[in-house]
This record gives sequence, structure tokens and C-alpha cells, in this order.
Amino acid sequence: ELQETAEYIARDERWGAHNYHPLPVVIARGEGAWVTDVDGRRYLDFLSGYSALNFGHRHPALVRAAHEQLDRLTLTSRAFHNDQFGLFCEELAHVTGTEMVLTMNTGAEAVESAIKVARKWAYEVKGVQTDAAEIIVATNNFHGRTTTIVSFSDDPVAHDNYGPFTPGFITVPYGDADAVEAAIGPNTAAVLMEPIQGEAGVIVPPAGFWRSVRDLCDEHNVLMIADEIQSGLARTGKLFALDHEDVRADLYTLGKALGGGIVPVSAVVGRADVLGVLKPGQHGSTFGGYPVACAVGRAVVGLLETGEFQARATELGEHLHGRLAELEGKGVAAVRGRGLWAGVDIDPLAKTGREVSMFLRDRGVLCKETHERTLRIAPPLVIERDEIDQAVDALADALTA
Ligand code: PLP
Repeated sequence: ELQETAEYIARDERWGAHNYHPLPVVIARGEGAWVTDVDGRRYLDFLSGYSALNFGHRHPALVRAAHEQLDRLTLTSRAFHNDQFGLFCEELAHVTGTEMVLTMNTGAEAVESAIKVARKWAYEVKGVQTDAAEIIVATNNFHGRTTTIVSFSDDPVAHDNYGPFTPGFITVPYGDADAVEAAIGPNTAAVLMEPIQGEAGVIVPPAGFWRSVRDLCDEHNVLMIADEIQSGLARTGKLFALDHEDVRADLYTLGKALGGGIVPVSAVVGRADVLGVLKPGQHGSTFGGYPVACAVGRAVVGLLETGEFQARATELGEHLHGRLAELEGKGVAAVRGRGLWAGVDIDPLAKTGREVSMFLRDRGVLCKETHERTLRIAPPLVIERDEIDQAVDALADALTA
């Protein structure tokens, strides 16, 4: 490693809790699909902050919105109204085709909030007996890192030694509608799943799965909650990944790209009669819906309304998947995904995901493994076709080197 990079990493290791396993690269600047490290080397970003940077680094419209808001007002708390909050909620509801918005900060908080709302709805509207509500979740899920959320994670690394755990969750195999049906009982409040599982390795469920879940939820008066924190906001070529299935959820959780990669902004959006169970004082967050979040979020909604990013994800995603398919049998065991989003399983005889990530770093492409042998590819949606080619060429070399 160059001197500067090594010094920064040594400091991180000494003073920062070791809750991540980052690639050894220290980024100092970013613009569009590119970042530059402290030693001046440039890299194509093929991860986009786990899809928080769908619009690229420092998109001018988003940076402008943030600057303008910083010059006027940053925080009021929700003890008072602010002049951005209602506009953000209205505009986000319009673009998502939903009726009401609950603003929070991080993805995990949005999921926690959806769980709270679903339980409250079950007791107050559906008539489930106190403390008996159940929520059906999927194997290999990832919804965040809070105590309640890791309670229903089946990944030992995320889950073990964080107990005692929150009860009330039933796990069924992801993509298995019969298992969802078998798990539904009189106390079921909701089904909570990712439309496409991100951390699990970009797992797309079988066609028809979501239609079946929707029908089951309607039949049994159960809420369908889609966690679109990683899959939503244009990544797959549509606003929601669920839109590919022509299915609507009762509640959606949003985060990551909702804050444009600038500020943490998350939300639960959906039915007014469900979010309406929250009454004054019953839920909140000091920063949730603060003016800077709302101003940047409104600019994000403005970008989503143009449809430009959805179109880029569709067109360039086809190109990306076409190029990745060429690698199958040449060091790649399988490729999954939709739009500008792919899980690439490395052939066990080739390299580990970490080795491939390190090779790519040396070739100026930043990408990260998930689990041992899967690369998760999610470039900013502003990436150009030839830049995709450049990165996939480097991947091809990594697999044969
Ligand atoms: N839900 C999904 C589907 C995610 O992919 C993530 C983050 O990777 C989260 C929730 C948690 O978001 P955050 O890290 O902002 O808490």
C-alpha cells in the first residue's frame, strides 16, 4: 500500500470499532460514478454505497438542494412544523402512488417503524389479542442491525450473542408461497420481505411469488410490507422492484437512495388507514423529517419523476447482464438480478469473492463480496456503457488471472 493509504487504515483500525471488513482503499473524493483515493488513484464505483448512491456521487441537483437548505434552516425537531416536511411527504406519496409517509433516518429505523405500525394495526384494527401478533419473514433476510431486526435474522454473524431476542416472527423459505400460506394464522399481522434480497446475494424470487403473497394477504387480512430499501428507487429499472410483478404492497420501507447519498433519510410509505394508527406522541425521531432531509429528499423525488434513472437502469442493466452472462462457465457459476443490479456467484474453483474484489481494486474498480463467493454489483445509475464494459473486462481478467 502507498504510505498515505496505510496511515489512514492504521488509524481506522486503532480507533474505530471493527464492525466492518472494508477493502483497503481510502476514498477522499467522489463525482458521478467515480471516486479518488487519498493517494490520487481513481476508481469506478461498482457498489454505490449499497445502492445509496443510485444518482451517483454528489449529483448537482442534490448538492444544490442541500446547500440551499443549509443556508436557510437545518433542524427544528418535530416539536414545530417546518416548511419542507409536508412538501416532501406530499411529493414522495405522489411519486410512489401511496397515501401517507412516515419519515425516519436509517433503513433499520424504517423497518422497525413498519413492524411497530403493523403490530399496532393488528391489535387496534384487526383485533389480534394483545402481544400475540406475528410477522412472517424470509430465510436469508437482511433488514438492518437493531435488536428486534437481528432477532429474526438467520445469519449467525448478524444474530449470535445479541439476545435476548424479540419474539413474534415466523421464518419461511424465501420465494415459497405455500410456506407463507401455511404460516398464516389468526394472529398474523404482516408478511415482511425484500422483493429482491440484496445482502443475500441479489436473489430474485420465482415469478408469481409476489402475486400469490398479495392474494394470501388479501384473503387473510394480513399486511404486505415490502422492504425496498435496497431494491427500490430506480435500481431495478422501476420505482419499486415490486412494480415488475404488478403488485402493490400495503407498506413500503424506503431508505438509502432516498437521501441521495448525502443525508440519512428513510420512510415508511403506504396506506393511510394503516399508518393512521399512529397518534400524536406514539412514535418519533428527533431528526426524522428534518428540513435538510426533506429538502434533499424532495430533490431525489424530482430526479425519480423524470424517469431518466429508471430508463438508464433498464437499458444499461440489459447490457450489464448480457456482458455478465458471457462469463458464465468462465469462472462465474451463476448470475442473478434485475436492472443495474447483479449477484455474481464465483466458481468455487476460481477465486473467493474477496480475492476478486482485491484484483478489481488494483484495476480501478470498487466492488464488494457478500458472503464467501458472491460479488454484488450495483453501479451508480449515472454510469456509462463503456464504463460498464471496462469493469466487466476487469472482472473477466480477475477470474482467469
Ligand atoms: N433493509 C434492506 C433491504 C437493506 O438492504 C438494508 C441495508 O443494507 C437495510 C434494511 C438497513 O438499512 P440501514 O443500514 O440504513 O439501517
